[in-house]
Amino acid sequence: MKIRAIFLLALPLLALAQKPSAPSSGLDSAAMNKTADPCVDFYQYACGGWTSNNPLPSDRARWGRFAEVTDHNEKVLLDILQGAAVIRDARSALDRKIGDAYAACMDTTAINQKGIAPIKPELDRITGMSNKADVVAELARLHRMGVDALFNFGSRPDAKDSTRTIAVLSQGGLSLPDREYYLKTDPKSVEIRQHFLQHMKNMFVLAGTSAESAAGYAQSVMDLETILAKDAMDRVSLRDPNKNYHIMTRAELAALAPSFPWDDYFHAIGAPAFETLNVSQPDTVQKIASDLQGYPMESWRAYFAYHLLRTHAPQLTEAFENETFDFWNRYLTGAREQRPRSARCVSTVDKTVGDLLGQKYIDLTFGADAKAQITQLVDALEKAMAQDIRGLPWMTEETKKAALAKLQAITNNVGAPKKWRDYSKLAIARDDFLGNSIRAAQAAYAQRIEKIGKPTDKTEWTMTTPTVNAFYSPQNNSINFPAGILQPPFFDPRRDIAFNFGGVGPVIGHEMTHGFDDQGRKFDGDGNLRDWWSAADNAEFEKRAACVANEYSGFTAVDDVKLNGRQTLGENTADNGGIRVALMALKDVLNGKTDKVDGLTPEQRFFVGYGQIWCENMAPQERRNRAMTDPHSPGRYRVNGVLQNMPEFQQAFSCKAGQPMVSENACRVW
Ligand SMILES: [Zn+2]
Repeated sequence: MKIRAIFLLALPLLALAQKPSAPSSGLDSAAMNKTADPCVDFYQYACGGWTSNNPLPSDRARWGRFAEVTDHNEKVLLDILQGAAVIRDARSALDRKIGDAYAACMDTTAINQKGIAPIKPELDRITGMSNKADVVAELARLHRMGVDALFNFGSRPDAKDSTRTIAVLSQGGLSLPDREYYLKTDPKSVEIRQHFLQHMKNMFVLAGTSAESAAGYAQSVMDLETILAKDAMDRVSLRDPNKNYHIMTRAELAALAPSFPWDDYFHAIGAPAFETLNVSQPDTVQKIASDLQGYPMESWRAYFAYHLLRTHAPQLTEAFENETFDFWNRYLTGAREQRPRSARCVSTVDKTVGDLLGQKYIDLTFGADAKAQITQLVDALEKAMAQDIRGLPWMTEETKKAALAKLQAITNNVGAPKKWRDYSKLAIARDDFLGNSIRAAQAAYAQRIEKIGKPTDKTEWTMTTPTVNAFYSPQNNSINFPAGILQPPFFDPRRDIAFNFGGVGPVIGHEMTHGFDDQGRKFDGDGNLRDWWSAADNAEFEKRAACVANEYSGFTAVDDVKLNGRQTLGENTADNGGIRVALMALKDVLNGKTDKVDGLTPEQRFFVGYGQIWCENMAPQERRNRAMTDPHSPGRYRVNGVLQNMPEFQQAFSCKAGQPMVSENACRVW
């Protein structure tokens, strides 16, 4: 099952670092708007200064405290890469690989000179397809190159036996961010599709097609993707692990969708022998196979060519990059210019050989002390969560026992994965930017496919070490905190403890709570999809979760677009539970102390610290996209949506019934 990623945040210590003489509470007064009433709009009170002083940079669709820290990490990585790229001899194999990967990306002169030549052989293969067997062979080839087309095939732990990894077939193959983009008929959706058609046409022209043919190709891609969209399962249903678990034999799959030569495909993809697989969305597979039976060869050529070009445009000439940016970023997200080339190349190396870069990064940024302190914090939060579960008014003793057992079984991973990925077989050439990217994607896909039929490696990470994020894995029942998030300014032992618990505390609590959100709760402590709830507790949970879903469905994302309370339910449940657990842990440590710092009580500092990790500005285009695709709520609601449910918050700021930050219908699950 898809890992639920997370909590994106940052604390305002970058500002403090520039003002070493300031008192070290960690409170960023400049970020606040003290003229705002915390009981009317706490987000404005905690973040009003920041949002007005930090307009959206021209190369961003979204800018927040989290992005500030990512920027800081990017500079560390850039230093590493520039050093590794410049020194040509006496480099270690690791330095050579990351240095060459970076240098290849930065060499825009060579990239522009080559023009379309590097991708031409792949395009020619697609143009040369003449029958169904060719289409299936090409589909497998594209999948092996990491190009998303038609559906996804890979490996995942068996949801009901997480110790073994099995083959998984799931829906995919769309270009736009969600099926709704193809199906909705409102003027904005129609406009997006018109722009998308024009963009595809431009890409085909850049690849050497005449303008007239290019328009036809673009329409063919749109038609094919509209069929995929119509047949696809919706995003809310995709969240439910039970709706996406259908173990079948290969013969059953063949009977479900007889028009597709599955055996040929599995052979071409290089899959190890397997008897059964999870067909995640059988209805979708059946419908697509039927709808696309005998589909015109010309449409397949256009569809594959566009997907190949889209995947690899960042490794092609400036013209391809600009066209891609114009549609996918400028038009669709509202960013006005591209990130600097060096920043894009840092991210490329992170994507290509992330675990090599991660090894260098962690040496520079994350010591044993930091690890020990974070581990202590995680332990404190776990203790608080156990206390929270034991005190739940709505859960029976029997289910509490099972929940506590699951909590006990959570594995905590801090800093970096236990094993780094091996890239020894991956060739990186200083003069072959596109080739590097294709070979890296092929190696990553081969590693994924090789796992079919093998025992699950539960220590694996799905994020690179410098990533400013964290994740809970339901099948590993693990919480994972990459070093990227576990360093100043996220957590600083020199800082006021209430502020620290308000910052990193809710992140840790959030990940733990994912094990008990509306979907995470369906897995047991061993990471298996198994119902450990009594019927009565199940009903109580659903009642409380429905309250959260209704609450967030009432929030406006942009214009007339509301949040989808069911799409964001897991994250909102984790936010609401996580902060409660963090506050319990803080109170335990404070042990009755109430000293004011910067004029604020410990509880007030805790809530301001929490609010300030979510300060952000976002382009309206991006707000619209995220409302349709992001399982997380925007920063404003991650603050106000959570705090209006909390009597502890209302008490800390003496808010009164009837004020906006005091919900009449406060929701609480955990
Ligand atoms: Zn999350």
